[in-house]
Amino acid sequence: MAGLTLNHVTKRFEDVVAVDDVSMDIDDGEFLVLVGPSGCGKSTTLRMIAGLETLTEGDIDLGERSIAHAKPADRDIAMVFQSYALYPHMTVRGNMRFGLEESTDLSDEEIDARVEETAAKLDIEELLDRRPGELSGGQQQRVALGRAIVRDPAVFLMDEPLSNLDAKLRSQMRTELQRLQEELAVTTVYVTHDQTEAMTMGDRIAVLNDGELMQVGTPLECYHAPANEFVAGFIGEPSMNFFAVEREGDTLTGDGFEYPLSNDVATDLGETRRLTLGVRPEDVSFVPSADGPHDLPAVTGVVEPMGNENNVHLTFPDGSEEFVATVDGMEHVERDQHVVARVPEAAIHLFDRETG
Ligand code: ADP
Repeated sequence: MAGLTLNHVTKRFEDVVAVDDVSMDIDDGEFLVLVGPSGCGKSTTLRMIAGLETLTEGDIDLGERSIAHAKPADRDIAMVFQSYALYPHMTVRGNMRFGLEESTDLSDEEIDARVEETAAKLDIEELLDRRPGELSGGQQQRVALGRAIVRDPAVFLMDEPLSNLDAKLRSQMRTELQRLQEELAVTTVYVTHDQTEAMTMGDRIAVLNDGELMQVGTPLECYHAPANEFVAGFIGEPSMNFFAVEREGDTLTGDGFEYPLSNDVATDLGETRRLTLGVRPEDVSFVPSADGPHDLPAVTGVVEPMGNENNVHLTFPDGSEEFVATVDGMEHVERDQHVVARVPEAAIHLFDRETG
């Protein structure tokens, strides 16, 4: 077992920079989730770690050893694909044996024992003699995992492995995968475009945008202290509200509202004048009357009941801006009501509009 280190990893496809100078350490046994929108370079990064894609620049170490130029089979890494990539003509047992027969010199009996033991961990013993065509999506997914686990690799790479499952099964498998990963304590890099999956599964998450690494941190670090506006908008559901504001001294002026800052917050901003003010929907609440400078009159629009919460769309009274407040589902809110939205200063995020 070992950790992985990416050193200035870059991948160019002609004039497309798919991965742009990415460096990070993934600890031994860690579950790291690579997350970002479609096309941001997640799969390419994973494929370079697996050896399915060459690096244009940079290096990748597994433990003390550089693997950047090693053959995929010599990397001690197992990959699980979104498509499962099972051999249709082989039984589950055959699929699980296949990688082991190729890559180890274990005896037939030892291989059988490993397959049985892995099947037991995944609760798929009764499926061993079936073929992939006779399995449900969830069962195929387990077999694909089994095929990776049975090899006992130093690293697991998973590329959107749950995206073909329906919502309920996906959430079950999320929990199960986490449990398995903890039990096996194998360094894992997991790719997804789904921020909920990233937040719930990762020990840490690495947020990519346009090939560049935006932030690596625990889910809570990325949520509470996003490194920039991109991370702030990507992590969290519903998405953070953003307002373009101009700062004059300690007052922010936006379209349809003013927002005073306390002295120390304003001082920290130095000379920066063009800012984005961000606030998460769950940090906006309704108060009976405007009692302070951070209580902003607003008008309600669409109300989306989510069960225990309501997402209430708001504008300022002059119709400008649109933002969302997530409030308790028991709170009675209707459309076109005049309300007062409290945006506490402790909850706001400020980003320099020039640099993000
Ligand atoms: P993600 O997995 O985040 O959706 P990818 O790593 O698949 O993103 O792709 C990153 C960028 O690299 C995209 O712009 C994509 O079009 C480009 N790309 C990926 N693979 C190739 C390839 N084989 N040839 C040319 N461009 C590619």
